[in-house]
This record gives sequence, C-alpha cells and structure tokens, in this order.
Amino acid sequence: MIKTQSKATKIIRCSICNVIITDLEDLYQCPDTWKTICSQCIQKFSPDDIELLPQIFNAFGGYFGKEKSINPIPLNELLQETIKKIEKNGRFDLAQIQLTLIHKALLLGYTPAEFQKYLRKLL
Ligand SMILES: [Zn+2]
Repeated sequence: MIKTQSKATKIIRCSICNVIITDLEDLYQCPDTWKTICSQCIQKFSPDDIELLPQIFNAFGGYFGKEKSINPIPLNELLQETIKKIEKNGRFDLAQIQLTLIHKALLLGYTPAEFQKYLRKLL
C-alpha cells in the first residue's frame, strides 16, 4: 500500500454568501452547526444572524445577495409583492409570510438589521 502525498482539494464555501474560501485564515465555523463562514460575513452579521442565516438558506435555498442587482428592489416593493401573493392564495400564515419575506430580502442582499429597521418604520 502506497500513501499518496497529494492532498485532496475540497472547495469550501461560505454558508451565508457562498463565496469560495481559499485562505483558511478567513474560515470560521459555527460551534453548534459546523457551518463554514467567511471573514466578511463574520464582520457583517451578528452572532445570532450567523447561526440563523445558514439554516434559512439550507431550508429555502439560495445565499445572501444571490439576487442582488445594480438596481435593488426596494423593500416596500417586496412587501407589496408578498401581499399580492397572499391575497391570490387566500391563506394567511404570519410565520410563513415572515420567513418568505426575510428569505427574499436576504437573497436581494438586505441584511437582517436593514430588514428589521425597515419593518420598524412601518409600525
Ligand atoms: Zn460569507
């Protein structure tokens, strides 16, 4: 049996923004979930967000900023779209609406803090 000297190369991606982490010094891992997080996301998000966001993307797909564009969709437009879908469906599940909204906002590149700030203005 011969032991190989070559190292297996595995692509490591951030569980929040999906960037490929090439420098291991930029790699962080959640203590509970072992999800890999890049240094930029560590700086951008709160510890609670870092635990929550990978779970949201795991459940609903996508990653932070996946649908971000040069002309960002305003949050009020996102809210109006969601309300129209609810009216069309005829069902009202507040928890589902909140999850749908936060997931879509994350895909568009809004941080949870920006999203919460927007919601507070509405109240
Ligand atoms: Zn990241």
